[in-house]
Amino acid sequence: MAMERKYVEKCPRCGGTVIEKEVTELLYGGVNTAILRVKAGVCELCGERYYTPDKVRQFEEIETKLAQQDTTEFEPVGQSFQVVLTS
Ligand SMILES: [Zn+2]
Repeated sequence: MAMERKYVEKCPRCGGTVIEKEVTELLYGGVNTAILRVKAGVCELCGERYYTPDKVRQFEEIETKLAQQDTTEFEPVGQSFQVVLTS
């Protein structure tokens, strides 16, 4: 069975090789943040990440839920704090 190619083979930005890797992605919606562990195509040279259209759609759904405070299915991992530096 041939491996399905999900990502571009060569990075459109720098021509580097794109490999599949698990990465950490931050998603924001309203005042909420979600930390995602997700597989992405990552360029070995410049580090640019490429996601499948399916993943992008899932990200948008998560961001909408974050914005609507609909976070019951997400696991809380800590608190976020806002710090304003005045100088
Ligand atoms: Zn690249």
